[in-house]
Amino acid sequence: MKKGKVVIFSAPSGSGKSTLVHFLMDKDSSFGFSVSATSRPPRGEEKHGVDYFFFTPDEFRARIAADEFVEYEEVYPGRFYGTLKSQVEHQLEAQNILFDVDVKGGCSLKKYYGERALFIFVQAPSVEILRERLIGRGDTSMDEIEKRVSKAEYEMTFAKFADRVIVNDDLGRAVEDLSAVVQAARCSVKFQKNLIEEVLEHA
Ligand code: ADP
Ligand code: 5GP
Repeated sequence: MKKGKVVIFSAPSGSGKSTLVHFLMDKDSSFGFSVSATSRPPRGEEKHGVDYFFFTPDEFRARIAADEFVEYEEVYPGRFYGTLKSQVEHQLEAQNILFDVDVKGGCSLKKYYGERALFIFVQAPSVEILRERLIGRGDTSMDEIEKRVSKAEYEMTFAKFADRVIVNDDLGRAVEDLSAVVQAARCSVKFQKNLIEEVLEHA
């Protein structure tokens, strides 16, 4: 029987998901990270098998056909991202897992793991601040940044499907809120009911 708990971080690109995931992993060694697959090329110092499994679009499609994913999405045109069954099934036997996925992937994982999962939406103060943060991160082209920002307003409407929303304006406050939310979830896995099924049908 699987033992691990699941914490899912979703939000538009630039909201602070990676920052919060790294904070939680540094603080609590019971968490492992779900390494996703993607068809985008590596960025900066990213390494295959550590940050992502980097596949060509053809390899990614072959794995979809072979039913290798718990969930996958074409998050941006031509850019696929997905959670490999082979990754998470073994990991969950031994530890808790953190996921960093797009908003639809977050809904799919919440539906899949149910009350075992805490679905956290990270909310940045505005779309303009998202743009500034992505520019400041310095690893994404302006063309790519605009693709991400143009989707952000739509993605922000998914906050209502999460179990909890962490506002990431002041980072210090966001990590405090996150610690409290994760601590509370350890005591009770009864997260609020939400409308995941409905959103997945209509998204
Ligand atoms: P995501 O994983 O959601 O795309 P990141 O965690 O990579 O977002 O954050 C995007 C950029 O914004 C990074 O350079 C990060 O250091 C910075 N950042 C994250 N949270 C804050 C914050 N509260 N205030 C200012 N900058 C932040
Ligand atoms: P990035 O290219 O910045 O690493 O990620 C772009 C978006 O894809 C982010 O919103 C990230 O959370 C999402 N993403 C990463 N891995 C997965 C995954 O396995 N599934 C889904 N649905 N989205 C993912």
